[in-house]
Amino acid sequence: MNGRARPLPVGEAASLPLLRERGPCASFCGLSSILWLHRRMRDAFFLVVGSRTCAHLLQSAAGVMIFAEPRFATAILEERDLAGSADCQQELDRVVDRLLERRPDIRTLFLVGTCPSELIKLDLEKAAERLTARAGAGVKVLAFTGSGIETGFTQGEDQCLAALVPELPALAAGARNLLVIGTLADLVQDQIARLLGALGIGPVHFLPPADSHDLPPIGSGTDVLFAQPFFNSSARLLADRGARLLTAPFPFGVEGTRAWLAAAASAWEIPAERLAEVIAAPAARAEQAITRYREVLAGRRLSFLPDSQLEIPLARFLARECGVELIEVGTPYLDRRAMQPELDLLPPGVRLCEGQDVDRQLDRVAADRPDLTVCGLGLANPLEAQGLRTKWSIELVFTPIHGFEQAGDLAELFARPLIRAARLRV
Ligand code: SF4
Repeated sequence: MNGRARPLPVGEAASLPLLRERGPCASFCGLSSILWLHRRMRDAFFLVVGSRTCAHLLQSAAGVMIFAEPRFATAILEERDLAGSADCQQELDRVVDRLLERRPDIRTLFLVGTCPSELIKLDLEKAAERLTARAGAGVKVLAFTGSGIETGFTQGEDQCLAALVPELPALAAGARNLLVIGTLADLVQDQIARLLGALGIGPVHFLPPADSHDLPPIGSGTDVLFAQPFFNSSARLLADRGARLLTAPFPFGVEGTRAWLAAAASAWEIPAERLAEVIAAPAARAEQAITRYREVLAGRRLSFLPDSQLEIPLARFLARECGVELIEVGTPYLDRRAMQPELDLLPPGVRLCEGQDVDRQLDRVAADRPDLTVCGLGLANPLEAQGLRTKWSIELVFTPIHGFEQAGDLAELFARPLIRAARLRV
């Protein structure tokens, strides 16, 4: 899987000491994001241009979820392609022609780059332009990379949205809108849309959209609110299109959701009293839902290993709303523009780590012996074998955890392994 964390943008000095590691890391690649993107954009197809390893990753990760004709596949690069003795662009045209003929329901086709396609320098962006012209009206072909050389497993979504940003239509002069970035479960999106509507904020759009051709307009009247912390590339492109990027803690737990909505309310000059009125009932429900898990989590020692980029916001939620003691919080990379409001809320004394050197990190976990370690799938079993409890970080991406109504479920996700361990001890 991944090799090394790439060099990362660094902003102003942090208030917390930061350990930077640039060793081998154990994480899935950006192809993993296809698993939630294809469920979100129901008229899109993801054609991975890669090796049998890429195909196996997708198949084993997603095989259990396929119940209809899948909306992703792998165009396998064979040895002669990798050796440069075949015309890969011609082969790709043939595969895409056949696919579009067989699947007239596809309206957006994403060509997804991989480590092998990048190694042989296969230009998928140029291929996408050519194939859009060949495909005719109604079908758009776009390209992005899911390669493990460049992306962690959630960054695949960032790359996909970055491919969509140039396609967004221009917002009419003088018009305003709010754009929420990041895949959300339908139910969470409805809840957020309702709260923003009650605040008088609108029109509200979501990217990615369920219909890949129903792209939201963007311009200088657009405020952008990020639902996830892994949109570094998309953020730059959105700002280039004139949008104003709002920064706030992410909508996890009561405090995060309140602050996230407050950022939108403030940008739209909604009085604080109105915000308090609108969120009073859902925030009270969320506080109540968290209480029962706080009893399990309070005082427990927890380490996050870098994987999903959700680590810092979730650590903030666990420390401030569930009473967890944070030992180490690792993140694949630290984007200070997005993360400063979260860093400001972390308790002092947390060991903050950017990047990974997996052996050194595992040594620290073995020495710290936290009550719970949040980590990638590949590290969970070795840690469990040492008698440590773990939580898979990928589960946090697939489970609806945003907003007030999900705050109890979010706390439960961390409490569950501890409750199970206590039961097994009895
Ligand atoms: S893109 Fe790279 S890291 Fe991902 S499965 Fe393919 S070869 Fe492995």
